[in-house]
Amino acid sequence: MTAPLFDRLALIGIGLIGSSLAQIVRQKGLAKHIAISTRSEETFRRAEELGLGDSYSRDAADAADGADLVILCIPVGANEAVAKWIAPVLRAGTILTDVGSTKASVVEAVGPYVPNGVHFIPGHPIAGTEQSGPDAGFPTLFQNRWCILTPPAGTDAAAIAKLTEFWQACGSQVDTMDPDHHDKVLAIVSHLPHIIAYNIVGTADDLEAVTKSEVIKYSASGFRDFTRLAASDPTMWRDVCLNNKEAILEMLSRFSEDLSALQRAIRWGDGDKLFDLFTRTRSVRRSIIEAGQEIDTPDFGRVKPEKTN
Ligand code: NAP
Repeated sequence: MTAPLFDRLALIGIGLIGSSLAQIVRQKGLAKHIAISTRSEETFRRAEELGLGDSYSRDAADAADGADLVILCIPVGANEAVAKWIAPVLRAGTILTDVGSTKASVVEAVGPYVPNGVHFIPGHPIAGTEQSGPDAGFPTLFQNRWCILTPPAGTDAAAIAKLTEFWQACGSQVDTMDPDHHDKVLAIVSHLPHIIAYNIVGTADDLEAVTKSEVIKYSASGFRDFTRLAASDPTMWRDVCLNNKEAILEMLSRFSEDLSALQRAIRWGDGDKLFDLFTRTRSVRRSIIEAGQEIDTPDFGRVKPEKTN
């Protein structure tokens, strides 16, 4: 147990990320009180059944009232409405952050509602799974993962240090960067892979029934890996695409050019070119394993989540 860093943590949204945060915060004693808010009756009840917090509400302002750390754990497209909702109860000195997968859009959507004296520090834990909802959460989700903070210029250094300490206590390493840079980097490492996965699984789904059953039957030959990403939450990924449009379109056009070059190499039987590319990409996989961001096991390193409940 660590000494509590915060008196009252408000988690607005209690899906995969909110629930994982609630569990690690409880396990490490990082906040004296965990106030949870969620939109639907169903999620509200489930969070209560799982015992994720100390108090529960369907009113985000109730949860945020009196909090010294507020974390928005909702789809990025919902941030503006929620920021507007909770702004009247945020008090000076509170740290307001989020976990959204895009950052420039969050700065734009939330920034105008942040009251004077509130430290607004957008964030993004680079950790997740294709599961959603409070049951999907587990306390080790952030262990040995990166969390990126994108504090606006002039943000209070002590507030950044405190939020950094919080994420480190959750098991993460912390980097800070400019929101536009974050969005470019994430467009290639996260957004594009998901879009490609959605596309390939969609193409297979469009195939006629007989072929489709064979697609499922023989999926272990490669297709299966794409289906994990393509099973990710549709609301979250719709919002990511709508809120990181420029960077995603730029990466998609580079991807299309490279794909055309690959297509040409296959058409003209350029085996050397194919071999060189496949050798280069294999070493990328090795670098990821060496960086501790994956393990080299047959199940692709997907360890079973450790539950506290
Ligand atoms: P999730 O499991 O689907 O949970 C979403 C939570 O947000 C639920 O409590 C839900 O409430 C609430 N919510 C949904 N729409 C809302 C709206 N319009 N207004 C208010 N609340 C709303 O989502 P998640 O995977 O935890 O993702 C949350 C955030 O983390 C997203 O911004 C995502 O980009 C980011 N993120 C996700 C991952 C990942 O791998 N999943 C990784 C890193 C960052 P109800 O259930 O009550 O409707």
